[in-house]
Amino acid sequence: MFQQLAWDESKNQPLCLALTSISGIDLLVSSSEAETTDHPTFESLGLNRSSLQAIESAGFETPSPIQAAFIPVAIKNQDVIGLARTGTGKTTAFVMPILEQIDLSKNIPQALILAPTRELSEQVAKEAEKLSSHSPCHTVCLVGGRPIRSQINEIKKGPHLIVGTPGRLIDLIRRRELNLKTIKFVVLDEADRMLDIGFRPDIEKILRRCPKKRQTLLLSATMAPEIEQISQKYMQSPEKIDVTQGDAPAQQIEQFYLTADPDRKFGALVHLLKQERPQQVIVFSRTKIGADKLFKKFSQKLGKQVASMHGDLPQGKRDQVMKKFRQGNVRMLIATDVVGRGIDISGISHIINYDIPEFCDDYLHRVGRTGRLSSDAQGRAITFVTREQGDQLTNIEMRINQLLPEYFLEEYEAARPIKSASNVEEPTENYEAPEFVIP
Ligand code: AMP
Repeated sequence: MFQQLAWDESKNQPLCLALTSISGIDLLVSSSEAETTDHPTFESLGLNRSSLQAIESAGFETPSPIQAAFIPVAIKNQDVIGLARTGTGKTTAFVMPILEQIDLSKNIPQALILAPTRELSEQVAKEAEKLSSHSPCHTVCLVGGRPIRSQINEIKKGPHLIVGTPGRLIDLIRRRELNLKTIKFVVLDEADRMLDIGFRPDIEKILRRCPKKRQTLLLSATMAPEIEQISQKYMQSPEKIDVTQGDAPAQQIEQFYLTADPDRKFGALVHLLKQERPQQVIVFSRTKIGADKLFKKFSQKLGKQVASMHGDLPQGKRDQVMKKFRQGNVRMLIATDVVGRGIDISGISHIINYDIPEFCDDYLHRVGRTGRLSSDAQGRAITFVTREQGDQLTNIEMRINQLLPEYFLEEYEAARPIKSASNVEEPTENYEAPEFVIP
């Protein structure tokens, strides 16, 4: 069975569409025929009282599409692949079914959540703590860049839920400080990203150390072939749930492209910021060096209102930057893709792709940092494109199934006009005389 849920913006409720696969044939079932209820509430998803209380305390009123589709299936201990991007409430979608099934009388690790970056792991751990605020569930976050000693002490206390990055988990397993024999639930969050950044061998090592009899939940933005392979190898007849259709960024995010010559990009960015007056903005650079260069240029004028984030920064510095950005003291964050992903901050009004992303999925992730579920405001995303990058823009447009309108700067010519026959200068009398070939 393959389910698809879209979000009906006009009614602010999921629009239910289910694709039921019968002998390999996909049938489109209308909302009235779909198994999923038309107006799901958190109560109708089968959650217990303490979960409902935690959801109420968190201030969530209606389940998001991924929650409405994912929770009722995962709660039955079924393996599930959920296709959804960050910012759509997917953490709650996979944490709630686990909290429902975990045995809180046993102080042993029962659930393992793997995420690609430290920031994302910490965000997930915080969300899990928030959602288990009405139960004695204990969560620990195991990521690199943090003192390993205190993490080992935390493990010794017997947490129910472990969240972490594959690298640090492998390290702890090697030191024999972490044993996964008691794990009953595994979540691979942003699995596509973990595979992208080369975590595949670590993920496999970790999965092999978990008991075979377990529930596995996998979340990804795309159904890439590698995801398919992992799921076939490590999951038991998973059900697929896709909410990526209705969740196209277009709904809460206005997207544009801006044509700029490579040597005019900085000027274009300065004028764009002047014109847009963002509340908070992330400027994405493709490389660490590029991010550092931009940061230097802006820090002369903007001082502490600007910061940069990339994988080479020490963890302490990354934490500081994130804290200041979250508090709103840092207004402009210049980031690379690795750290840009998963950031959930409601004040981000603008995303600027100073460098067009290399992969279309990175576009979705970058743009998804604005127009978040946790934010009321609409976001804007503007992607810089040089004339040579037209193909890359087309690929993105195909991926999001939408043509992006062009953005114009009022006081700056970001791209020199292409010389046409009418504006090519007439040669003066000093022109070089043509040479003739004399036979
Ligand atoms: P996530 O996709 O899990 O990173 O969630 C994005 C943001 O949406 C987080 O700040 C969540 O606390 C928030 N959120 C999750 N579910 C809901 C909901 N049903 N209603 C409103 N906000 C939500």
